Amino acid sequence: KGDADEPVIPFAQPGSMTRVYAVASGKGGVGKSSVTVNLAAAMADKGLKVGVVDADIYGHSVPRMLGTTDLPTKVDEMILPPQAHGVKVISIGMFTPGNTPVVWRGPMLHRALQQFLADVFWGDLDVLLLDLPPGTGDIAISVAQLIPNAELLVVTTPQQAAAEVAERAGAISLQTRQRLVGVVENMSWMDMPDGSRMDLFGSGGGQTVADSLTKSIGSEVPLLGQIPIDTRLREGGDAGVPLVLSAPQSAAGEALRKVADRL
Ligand code: ADP
Repeated sequence: KGDADEPVIPFAQPGSMTRVYAVASGKGGVGKSSVTVNLAAAMADKGLKVGVVDADIYGHSVPRMLGTTDLPTKVDEMILPPQAHGVKVISIGMFTPGNTPVVWRGPMLHRALQQFLADVFWGDLDVLLLDLPPGTGDIAISVAQLIPNAELLVVTTPQQAAAEVAERAGAISLQTRQRLVGVVENMSWMDMPDGSRMDLFGSGGGQTVADSLTKSIGSEVPLLGQIPIDTRLREGGDAGVPLVLSAPQSAAGEALRKVADRL
């Protein structure tokens, strides 16, 4: 602040009209990126201007899930993000040659995130989604510093062990004083051919996380939705067409669209 060397992040300026959601999870593999990408596609489909920052350094997968292999282009000093399904996307993977793993330390990650937010030409966005790495690490703290008005969205599975870790990821908002917008439970059940539901990963985790965060924060943290398991969701991720676009009427597609409507 007041430092001429500090890059200006438009989303953090007073009066910014962009809602910023940082999507967090405790554990990896709970579907955080899948949820992020589907929410982004659903919002863009509704006519909103949407951007996604893939900041999951350990598992950057957002561009593939959105079906783009394009690289950003540079115009003057600005970086133009590729676009897919109407969503502008920047990934840490676009700046690492080949498929090399990212072994950066905290300060480098902070700098990269700062660049994604300040040097990328996003235009006027209605919504910016940030796909965070799992856990409560450096990036989550950087987001809080760079965009204090970013709101936190927690993704968990129904499993109690996953829920406990997700609670810790959500509780970070107490320290950073960010708003916790809610919890999404993913992989909630599987619809069986006989019409029954199979609780593959147990049940109740999403509600547990929402209740316990409501208690520790002292204001309502809603369970925004429960997304069932659908093999088409995974196939859509691999093929680069999010389920909310390829099968909007599926139970998982509808549940994801409802979450997007509640944000
Ligand atoms: P994370 O970002 O939390 O590491 P991903 O979004 O990469 O998780 O999801 C992990 C794997 O699970 C991926 O292969 C993804 O396609 C799959 N997946 C996620 N959610 C669902 C779901 N509701 N139904 C079926 N497969 C899912």
